[in-house]
Amino acid sequence: MTECAQESNVLAALTAGAMPEELAAHLAECGVCQDAELAWSYLKECAVAETVSDVPPAGVVWWKAQLAKKRAEARRSIAWIEAMQKIALAVVAIAVIAIAAWQGPKLFNVSPLLAAASGAVLVLLVASVLVMHGLDRWSHDGLSRGA
Ligand SMILES: [Zn+2]
Repeated sequence: MTECAQESNVLAALTAGAMPEELAAHLAECGVCQDAELAWSYLKECAVAETVSDVPPAGVVWWKAQLAKKRAEARRSIAWIEAMQKIALAVVAIAVIAIAAWQGPKLFNVSPLLAAASGAVLVLLVASVLVMHGLDRWSHDGLSRGA
């Protein structure tokens, strides 16, 4: 007894999730159908185990890799901006000192026009420092929001 005419019906009923009474009665007495049911339930467990396994889908893995790459690129560009800001601040500081040394002694006995021009240059330098500081703060906020 290795085959049963009801075997395919039993498997169909198992898959559908609804077992007619006469088929259930046959299953209780038929060894072939019981073996088929055992194999079916084992295969179903395997399918469930595959579904609930911890391995994430390939799409998620790819998406996370893309995100990590973008974050690394953002960190690199921020580092570059910060280096440029430090250089700019150093240049501004040197310029302020140079202008002060150059114009300072003359400020009190030169024409008002030259004094005003020097003042305007100093105001521009201070404004550029403030803008750089604002850009620095903005880039840090942007990074922490993105992360
Ligand atoms: Zn059978």
